Amino acid sequence: MSTLAPHSTPSHAQRVLNQPPPLEGRNLFDDNLPLIEALGREGAGWAHERAREVGAFWGGEPMGWGFQANDNPPGLRTHDRYGNRIDEVDFHPAWHWLMRRGVADELHALPWRTHRAGAHAARAALYMCAIQAEAGFACPITMTFAAVPALQTQPDLAAEWVPLLTSTEYDSRLHRASDKPGALCGMAMTERQGGSDVRANTTAARPVNGGGPGGEYEIDGHKWFCSAPMCDLFLVLAQAEEGLSCFALPRVLEDGSRNGFHLQRLKDKLGNRSNASSEVEFHAAWGRMVGEPGRGVPTIIEMVNHTRLDCVVGTAGGMRAAVANATWHAAHREAFGRRLADQPLMRNVLADLALESEAATVLAMRLARAYDESDDESSLHFKRLATAVAKYWVCKRAPNHAFEALECLGGNGYVEASGMPRLYREAPLSSIWEGSGNVMCLDVLRALARSPVGLESYLAEVELAAGADQRLDRFVAALRAEFEDLAGIEARARRVVERMALALQASLLVRHAPAAVSDTFCASRLDGDSGQEYGTLPAGADLEAIIARHTPPV
Ligand SMILES: Cc1cc2nc3c(=O)[nH]c(=O)nc-3n(C[C@H](O)[C@H](O)[C@H](O)COP(=O)(O)OP(=O)(O)OC[C@H]3O[C@@H](n4cnc5c(N)ncnc54)[C@H](O)[C@@H]3O)c2cc1C
Repeated sequence: MSTLAPHSTPSHAQRVLNQPPPLEGRNLFDDNLPLIEALGREGAGWAHERAREVGAFWGGEPMGWGFQANDNPPGLRTHDRYGNRIDEVDFHPAWHWLMRRGVADELHALPWRTHRAGAHAARAALYMCAIQAEAGFACPITMTFAAVPALQTQPDLAAEWVPLLTSTEYDSRLHRASDKPGALCGMAMTERQGGSDVRANTTAARPVNGGGPGGEYEIDGHKWFCSAPMCDLFLVLAQAEEGLSCFALPRVLEDGSRNGFHLQRLKDKLGNRSNASSEVEFHAAWGRMVGEPGRGVPTIIEMVNHTRLDCVVGTAGGMRAAVANATWHAAHREAFGRRLADQPLMRNVLADLALESEAATVLAMRLARAYDESDDESSLHFKRLATAVAKYWVCKRAPNHAFEALECLGGNGYVEASGMPRLYREAPLSSIWEGSGNVMCLDVLRALARSPVGLESYLAEVELAAGADQRLDRFVAALRAEFEDLAGIEARARRVVERMALALQASLLVRHAPAAVSDTFCASRLDGDSGQEYGTLPAGADLEAIIARHTPPV
């Protein structure tokens, strides 16, 4: 007979000491003070209760779905057992749970389903919560959301597809559109020989019966990156006789047969592993032209801009997840006889990460409001510049932010179960797709060259904080000087865009954040009183107040 009782005291080896309690059952909205404040400020106070519900839901079970969907990545089935092409991707059920709930929560469609002012800001808040459970599924959600304004340039196509793309029913089956209660849309622009420079596209479109806007075309060629290939519809760029044009290609034709849209293989990606990204070939694929012939880029650009908005919002969500985990761990872990959160040097790191996260959140939410206010000309100019500036800067800041947050958890942060490796792998993606870093900076220069008044609209927003902080005033004066002599501006573009981003983030924080946050941001980001790494905030900063604002409640 064993001498050990069933519930005997654990041995030394079995005892678990000084490990933080699991960070579970969070309300991802309620514990994010900068987001709560921004929601009301940016015109969507009406969505507060809804955001609380969404925050509670996505902070619960979906956190587990995110792990499952990544542990069981999608698999490609090009052919059935008899050799017929089927071009399907199999996903773990957790992927479908994420998608179904994301669609039900209108993450893909809220502003297109309501005329309420502030709908973009409201959606951004919901999206920022949900993406903390898992980022991969946000790709088809975003593309479906972003496709709607591009499709609207072709009213007959919009009438057919927009009701499906804005439906709250998720239907993962590859069926013809008329049999489906809801549909999803992707985009395919990038080819092997060029992604940023889509003018190099070689995919060719041949009119079937006359062509022109809304006309039928047959498309041959390939795309090197085509994410979420189980979407029902794709907006595709291809060369027509008149030049690069935009086309809508369904996966399934109205007679129920599969379109000539062949999945070659799935990419083996650094992160974003729950989501499938494919290489495709088009073999006499049937499509309809969207917008004017030869105007493919201006037509699809509305889709691109809305995806860029989501790159910013999603990255702010990722930063929030990183900070929540880091501050939580430090609040519960002791080293050298004191909680990590009480150690001065760790405080500096945590506060710096929190500042970055707050600055990303306020910028993302302000940008979302610009999408709500697209009917006023000055707001349009602001939106045009702020989208590119924020996409460049917020996304560029993410990878090192994720890494530093991961390191706050020590070795635990390097282990998959913490969720931190997933955040880290995901972090560079938003900077690469939908316009990589340099391309975004060049886009800012292009916008400035096309419309010099754009800069004044941008600076007018920044200068709403004029006089409130001398460091910001000096910084803005120096920023203006950057534009006085445009010689060599292309080589300086990153420097200029970085400063535009910092000025706007500082302006928003000076106007709206507690003094501890805005003061420390201005000192470290504008006044040079910091080092190259996170954790180099100046002495005297109110680190405790900053951290307290960002630590999930016990
Ligand atoms: C996971 C993933 C999913 C994707 N999904 C899709 C999708 O669904 N649909 C789709 O169409 N695409 C998709 N892409 C492709 C993505 O949008 C492109 O990879 C991106 O636009 C960059 O294009 P590229 O890879 O051809 O790089 P390139 O255009 O060759 O750029 C390489 C580098 O050069 C820089 N560069 C380019 N031009 C200049 C210049 N003039 N001056 C200075 N620097 C410059 C870029 O910033 C970049 O750093 C996806 C990519 C990834 C990683």
